[in-house]
Amino acid sequence: MVFHTADPNEREFDRSLRPTTFGEFVGQEQIRDNLRIAIGAARGRDEPLDHVLLCGPPGLGKTTLAHLIAAGMGADIVLTSGPALGAPKDLAGTLTRLQRNQVLFIDEIHRLPKVLEEYLYSAMEDHAIDVVLDPGPSGRSVRLGVQPFTLVGATTREGLLTAAFRSRFGIVERLEPYPSKDIEQILLRAAVRLSVVLEAPAAALCAERSRGTPRVALRILRRVRDLAQMQQKASIDAVVAQEGLQRLRIDALGLEELDRKLLRALVQRGDAIGLKTLAAMLDEAEDTIEEVLEPHLIRCGLLARTPRGRVATPRTYEHLQLPPPATKPGELPFA
Ligand code: ADP
Repeated sequence: MVFHTADPNEREFDRSLRPTTFGEFVGQEQIRDNLRIAIGAARGRDEPLDHVLLCGPPGLGKTTLAHLIAAGMGADIVLTSGPALGAPKDLAGTLTRLQRNQVLFIDEIHRLPKVLEEYLYSAMEDHAIDVVLDPGPSGRSVRLGVQPFTLVGATTREGLLTAAFRSRFGIVERLEPYPSKDIEQILLRAAVRLSVVLEAPAAALCAERSRGTPRVALRILRRVRDLAQMQQKASIDAVVAQEGLQRLRIDALGLEELDRKLLRALVQRGDAIGLKTLAAMLDEAEDTIEEVLEPHLIRCGLLARTPRGRVATPRTYEHLQLPPPATKPGELPFA
């Protein structure tokens, strides 16, 4: 398992630590405020909230915000995902069952089959969908009503949505990785909920190595909590945290073994590598590389994207403690 990608077995853990009010949602102040204002105004008018699109890497709080939006509207939430809505009848069923003002959350909305986008458009705008009864030249269709609802879409790949689709969301918010201070706060709150004592230096250490991602930070906490328990420590201190991180092989920049494997592949090649080749070398999905691994490596300055492919940087060599590549006379390194 890649430590920082979603793991279905940990959904329950995620759920148990999920903030239940906007007040408990740490950081991302601007997004929180924008949503609070929009929710307050919509409630004042007794209307459903505008459709919302939440963009950003996995584990930053998109699902959590969808729940908070529903709670703020005093409405139920219906959860589904792009890949789960395979056929028009799945989406038609979901849409026609919605009750007034409910929130429909579609995770990974960029993976919604294109044929279903049209359905959604008319449901979002006209509160109706046209279901084709028999396709073909004499095709008949029936118009089914849909209650006014709020669509909350979450995506890790905003660029894959068509402009037409994106423009149908009245509210578009982009989540960024959290500063360490925010992650520390998330960890300290989670520790209280889990009834463990997390010392401040340990919280700071775990936060620094969590790539600005609450889900990663909470998983680290879970592992160091196990370690403290096995060592019969009354609290999680910096020594336990350090040992836990070492055991997880998470380094000072929050990189795991798979990240380092990717960097080593870049260095070995010594030239630009295309995404497909990289995926084959690592035996990983292209999506995982693009959505999960690369953004953090780029932020750390350890990988650069060029028109020819992915390349190492001087920092890559530094981080792997390797000498920089030899250059031919007259050639600049990393040119
Ligand atoms: P996403 O949908 O973006 O993948 P989630 O909403 O599932 O992310 O969040 C992953 C975990 O991190 C959840 O357990 C959630 O409780 C926690 N979390 C995310 N953002 C915050 C936040 N701002 N404050 C507190 N906890 C958070």
